[in-house]
Amino acid sequence: MQFAGKMKVRIVESLCIACGLCREVCPERAVHPKMQDIHHRYEVLEHECTGCGDCLPYCPVAGALEEYEVTGFDR
Ligand code: SF4
Ligand code: SF4
Repeated sequence: MQFAGKMKVRIVESLCIACGLCREVCPERAVHPKMQDIHHRYEVLEHECTGCGDCLPYCPVAGALEEYEVTGFDR
């Protein structure tokens, strides 16, 4: 376990059009459909996302995928 800053990616729900492309390309299968969401949008599970960034160039909506930094103990 080490203290580290780590990049992750998350979906900005207000911008996401639920095309599903990020889910298709994610090598970690970290993108999941939100079961309770009537718009069938997706979410990135933080503990599964490695922050690789592979999804970013595929998103057709500018800003719908955003990088953020997690700081804390790496488990
Ligand atoms: S940054 Fe990588 S691991 Fe995280 S959701 Fe995007 S493709 Fe998946
Ligand atoms: S690629 Fe972009 S618009 Fe498509 S589901 Fe993922 S975040 Fe939403």
